[in-house]
Amino acid sequence: MTAMAAILDRITAAMAREIDRGRVADYIPELSKVDPRHFGIAVATADGRVISAGEAARPFSIQSVSKVFTLSLALECLGEACWQRVGREPSGDPFNSIVQLESDNGIPRNPLINAGAIVVSDILLAGRGPDDAVAAILAFMRRITEDDSIEIDSAVASSERKTGFRNRALAHFMRAAGTVTHDPEQTLAVYFRQCAIAMTCEQLALAGRIFAFAGRIGPTGETIITPARARRVNSLMLTCGHYDGSGQFAFDVGLPGKSGVGGGILAIAPGKASIAVWSPGLNTVGNSQLGTMALEMLARETGWSVFGEG
Ligand code: GLN
Repeated sequence: MTAMAAILDRITAAMAREIDRGRVADYIPELSKVDPRHFGIAVATADGRVISAGEAARPFSIQSVSKVFTLSLALECLGEACWQRVGREPSGDPFNSIVQLESDNGIPRNPLINAGAIVVSDILLAGRGPDDAVAAILAFMRRITEDDSIEIDSAVASSERKTGFRNRALAHFMRAAGTVTHDPEQTLAVYFRQCAIAMTCEQLALAGRIFAFAGRIGPTGETIITPARARRVNSLMLTCGHYDGSGQFAFDVGLPGKSGVGGGILAIAPGKASIAVWSPGLNTVGNSQLGTMALEMLARETGWSVFGEG
């Protein structure tokens, strides 16, 4: 057994002993059906391997983890002009907060909160309908994982479409402000479906390689995004990827990371590895409780924190 496999087995065993696993998201009814006992972890390393433990081959709803991939795609489509419609500062507020938008003239603080990600979905809608925009997102996910089996969970997408009233409020307010440029329902038709993409930890770790390896699918693989864009998405993950828990995540784990309310977290050790973890129970700010603990253990055992060892 390799050293990494042993670390992942130790982490998985430690997480199995945890009694307080957080609370599964229930504001999207379909997500409330997921058993909180699931746990999986996978690491895609610089030598091209994927090492995993637990339920790393079981698909889950990636939810907001999708935001780093749609941002990458939007930057490829629209370039720097994206930053006229969305900022780059941590919000210090919950992921679905409405409160800053009015004082900020309808420009979301960053692309990783819901408001910002809805703007990114709107950018991806330019010149095409929602079905084509969603198809482009799915094609991107399949290309960077080199896996054509990735699909959208339509039950999760329709569950959110029926209950996504806060996201509707954000989208309609931004349409009034001009940051969203299409019919808000069309923009949300993209956003709800991108959030409902189902992936396994192994697939998500593979997808994150573009951020770990300067835009490439592995250190010597095909270039998908420029090194500068990969570096900048990492910086946004570090400062904004866990909403009002971003400071705590940097403190505990010390890696760029993006969470989703499905309980997934993608974490990046630049130049070293892309890591995906899944445990559906969330902490009070909506980030995977055991996922964060597992990543803290992994960063400590590998010395991968971007802030140094120890
Ligand atoms: N689809 C979810 C929402 O918009 C995503 C939020 C999340 O994962 N934090 O509410």
